[in-house]
Amino acid sequence: MEFCPKCGSRLEPKKSKSGKDASLVLACQKCGYKKPEGDEKGETKVLPKVIQHSPQQLVAVIGKEEQKLSTLPTVHMECSRCGNNMAYVWQVQTRGADESSTQFLRCTKCNYTFREYS
Ligand SMILES: [Zn+2]
Ligand SMILES: [Zn+2]
Repeated sequence: MEFCPKCGSRLEPKKSKSGKDASLVLACQKCGYKKPEGDEKGETKVLPKVIQHSPQQLVAVIGKEEQKLSTLPTVHMECSRCGNNMAYVWQVQTRGADESSTQFLRCTKCNYTFREYS
């Protein structure tokens, strides 16, 4: 049951003609207040489901990656970009018949990544 926000009387269902369709609206018989159509009851039904990617997850992923990187061994290698002489080194085994691996190097200062074929 609903009450009029203006005078507090009980709202009665009334037929209201809008265009072709006759719809029921709640109206106050005392002051003539009419509850607008499309009230909060209808709105709660069509609430869209919002899938949010939590920013905390992204931070965790980046943190993990950095941790991995910091455990890599370093070698003395002059960076062609900034002149730094220290670089992280790791090897990636290339798939295929030949078992050659590719050595990757990343400058510890500017993160410039380059590779060397062994
Ligand atoms: Zn009223
Ligand atoms: Zn560098």
